[in-house]
Amino acid sequence: MFAQTPIIAYQRLSLPMESDSGISITIKRIDQVHSTISGNKWFKLKYNLIKAKSLGYSQLLSFGGAYSNHIDALAHAAYDFGFESIGIIRGDELAGRPLNPTLSRAQALGMRLEFISRADYRLKHTDNYTTELKARYPNAYIIPEGGSNALAVKGCEEMLTEADQRNFDVIVCAVGTGGTFSGLINASGHGQSLIGFSALKGDFLIEPVQGWTGSAKHNWAIYDDSLFGGYGKFNKTLEAFIELMNKKYELPLEPIYTGKAFYRMLAMIEQGNIAKGSRILFMHTGGLQAFDRSK
Ligand SMILES: *Cc1c(COP(=O)(O)O)cnc(C)c1O
Repeated sequence: MFAQTPIIAYQRLSLPMESDSGISITIKRIDQVHSTISGNKWFKLKYNLIKAKSLGYSQLLSFGGAYSNHIDALAHAAYDFGFESIGIIRGDELAGRPLNPTLSRAQALGMRLEFISRADYRLKHTDNYTTELKARYPNAYIIPEGGSNALAVKGCEEMLTEADQRNFDVIVCAVGTGGTFSGLINASGHGQSLIGFSALKGDFLIEPVQGWTGSAKHNWAIYDDSLFGGYGKFNKTLEAFIELMNKKYELPLEPIYTGKAFYRMLAMIEQGNIAKGSRILFMHTGGLQAFDRSK
């Protein structure tokens, strides 16, 4: 399944603003990399699953919120690859309720769902919690929340090809935990710069991204989500924008990651904050599973 990276399509947009600024926007449709393991999660899981298999683990375990794209991808990948899977889900109040589409699909694929309180969820990456989990699931290969670790970063380096290094000046990507963006930084070519739009508020990403990329590269910036107010928050303007991009340009976006990033990229261009004539590559990282559009 991971033996060969599928060929990924490019979508050229012709927005009115492009001709004014001489800027061109191309979208790399990573969302189409696989029929069920969507977007950047395919690249993030690749080397983790290969390692888990080679070490003889029979289960994959990870963490996420109720709509998590990572949990969705993990459930599919585990099923396809012959692992059992366990999802530790934030929010013990969800335990007695009907499952949302993300979780019911994960469960139908065989994922065992364990709901924990928000307080416990915050402790999920502490040593105590990890020790306890390992005792309960000795056969599980544990993947951090959002799937980001060194092997995920290595996988995401493969999202950029040599042609991408030559053909584009600016790489734009939505950021959650920073693993994907770090891979792109590592794979970026001479003279390229990268802009990340975080789905969250705060500047907590600088440190992990520096850790995954080394201090050698300074060709990147991450902007936090002060504009829309933080993770999962969106408004009518963003919804209308997503609707328009889908109808008029056949570009399906969602309001957590890609929709916000695309909106904010266009705002930056309009404000003159991206150099005239730049050839932009926008990474469509997926995330459509939770929003009922074609995946
Ligand atoms: C998970 C996800 C991201 C963020 O990836 P990180 O590696 O956690 O930064 C971006 N876009 C989409 C659609 C995602 O599902």
